[in-house]
Amino acid sequence: LGPTPSRHIGVDLGGTNIKWVAIEIAGGNVAILASDEIPTNGASGPANVAQRVAEAAGVAQQAAGAALTLGVGLPGKFDPARGTVTFLPNIAGDWNGVELARIAGEGVGLRCLLINDARAFALAEHAAGGGRGCRNLLGITLGTGIGGGIIIDGRLHLGIDGSAGEFGHQTVLLDGPVCGCGMLGCVEALAKSACLAALAEQPTARAATEAAKRGDATALAAFETVAGWLAIAIANAIVLLSPDRIVLGGGGAQAGDLLLEPLRGMVRERVTMVPVERVKILQSELGPTAGAIGAALWGAGVGH
Ligand SMILES: [Zn+2]
Repeated sequence: LGPTPSRHIGVDLGGTNIKWVAIEIAGGNVAILASDEIPTNGASGPANVAQRVAEAAGVAQQAAGAALTLGVGLPGKFDPARGTVTFLPNIAGDWNGVELARIAGEGVGLRCLLINDARAFALAEHAAGGGRGCRNLLGITLGTGIGGGIIIDGRLHLGIDGSAGEFGHQTVLLDGPVCGCGMLGCVEALAKSACLAALAEQPTARAATEAAKRGDATALAAFETVAGWLAIAIANAIVLLSPDRIVLGGGGAQAGDLLLEPLRGMVRERVTMVPVERVKILQSELGPTAGAIGAALWGAGVGH
């Protein structure tokens, strides 16, 4: 990726919406040309949803003019060599073996690279958001589940089959509640959006945030509790990685300082082996399109 501007498209397959973005990369700067979303219609089944991903890529292609590459982010696991989905827990149907990369790429005549959505989030925040200019970054997405992505020296750390960065599946409570991954006491099982809402006695995490902003004591206590679980997992990650920055995104991070303030304090109390005062803990700058931007960047070869 040289100084000559090049255009790329990205699609973020989510449980509710499929977001797409067209970006231009020039000399290390990322500009967003256009973005939008269509409903996932998850109940229509994997074949239809994969077709909708291709449809979104087509619209993005038109918006971009002539895009060079396509990346698709998905909330689950996949076989990077084959471009097939292996595990997609939050979208209905049997996704194992669905040739998502082929289906999405064929529609626009481009090779398609797949990336986990939380890894895409980390990549986007590093290249164009709250992590700009830093070397080592941990990205965390707080939503239906809790995801993560690790950037080391500007490159996405993938591990075996892209499985590195599963921040949400660290055990933080021995014999804690059952997690979607099958283990007990993962931070996801204690701090995902549904947990925040339940603790705040509100229907959704968004309602919990509104209540906390009004000063509701139950909602404020819920944020303290969730921050406490996240602080254990973040402190563990800091001790292991010593990142420059940690960026939190997803619906659960929209509370901003309501969550981040108690979190920063609790993280500091738990870390002595790393100069924790130099680790910046920030809210996402890119918002809900971060995943699609990261997918486009990955497709373009950024972070490899
Ligand atoms: Zn888990």
